[in-house]
Amino acid sequence: MLVLKNVEKRFSLDAGFFAPVGRFVYAVNGVSLELRPHEIYGLVGESGCGKTTTARIAVGMYHPDVGQVEYTDRDGRLHDLTRPSKSQMDLVRSKIKYVFQDPARSLNPRMSVLDILTAGYRYLPNWPGKNKARDEAAAILEDVGLRVDDLERRPTDFSGGQRQRISIARALIVSPEVLICDEVVSALDVSIQGQILGLLLRLREEYNLSILFIAHDLAVVSYICDRVGVMYRGLLMEEAPAKEIGRNPVHPYTKHLYAGIPQLEKPVAGEAAARRGFSTTRFGESPDPTRRPEFLPDASHERLGRGQAEMVESGAAFEEVSPGHRVSRYLRDHPQNTS
Ligand code: ATP
Repeated sequence: MLVLKNVEKRFSLDAGFFAPVGRFVYAVNGVSLELRPHEIYGLVGESGCGKTTTARIAVGMYHPDVGQVEYTDRDGRLHDLTRPSKSQMDLVRSKIKYVFQDPARSLNPRMSVLDILTAGYRYLPNWPGKNKARDEAAAILEDVGLRVDDLERRPTDFSGGQRQRISIARALIVSPEVLICDEVVSALDVSIQGQILGLLLRLREEYNLSILFIAHDLAVVSYICDRVGVMYRGLLMEEAPAKEIGRNPVHPYTKHLYAGIPQLEKPVAGEAAARRGFSTTRFGESPDPTRRPEFLPDASHERLGRGQAEMVESGAAFEEVSPGHRVSRYLRDHPQNTS
């Protein structure tokens, strides 16, 4: 339903008089992925790897510098969301809904739950009338596990898990086709996380949703997702069905992520690599986002040197190790990361 073709996004750091000129944060550096009908696709990776930026590009909130975004609705109509017009954005606002990590900040504390939920109708062409809107809000609130009486209360009256349910209800009221869930359970206790994940699985069936699920917790992703994409430095490192990637991670970064253990070895060959202008980053360290990922000159990366865009486009940036399981050649075999 949603297709990202080799999207790239960088942010300028040129803000303020004393800020460095011509410096950028390279947030997304050539990501291609697709969200299929009725699928839950998990985007994982450590903080700052570009998950949120990718998701915001997917819904037209950010315009990619390079690449394309396409959305095909359930009626089979194709919408180009690369640089959406206002009318395209209006359509997207009802068909693709974004649920944020922190409901305390995304729900207006001065509004009642009823007003929060029914505000979503402004994205639809027809206002159903006060009574019908209230009935629908009540039904959806019950659907997400809250009570009709809760319509009159305010977000501050609820726990974190309940507030997340309200956020999900707010998204559902306009009958979306796609949900983007950005770290929606990260701030919750483990037991509440389980409830929200169970809720999302049920709602996927009930509302026939496709879900792009962003998280850094692999246990959560393995539980809820059909397919998983692992991101590092604004690039996809590996993509596979969730069960397959958990059983058989291939890329060293994915293994590192799944092992969940910080690597404490001392840097190797760092100075030599730095002199040649290549990254000295080892998995487990925070990469410098103001440096675009470089393509290493050893045999397996030779072809990547011609430009990531071209390689991603042609599929050469990845090796398909089994059906639906593709592994980036970037940093795959470099001794710095496999030792
Ligand atoms: P987290 O899990 O912490 O939210 P993430 O994987 O979602 O991280 P992004 O939020 O997409 O990562 O950020 C990727 C990089 O882009 C980071 O280095 C971040 O600081 C930078 N970045 C994101 N948004 C902006 C912005 N509006 N302006 C400047 N830099 C930005």
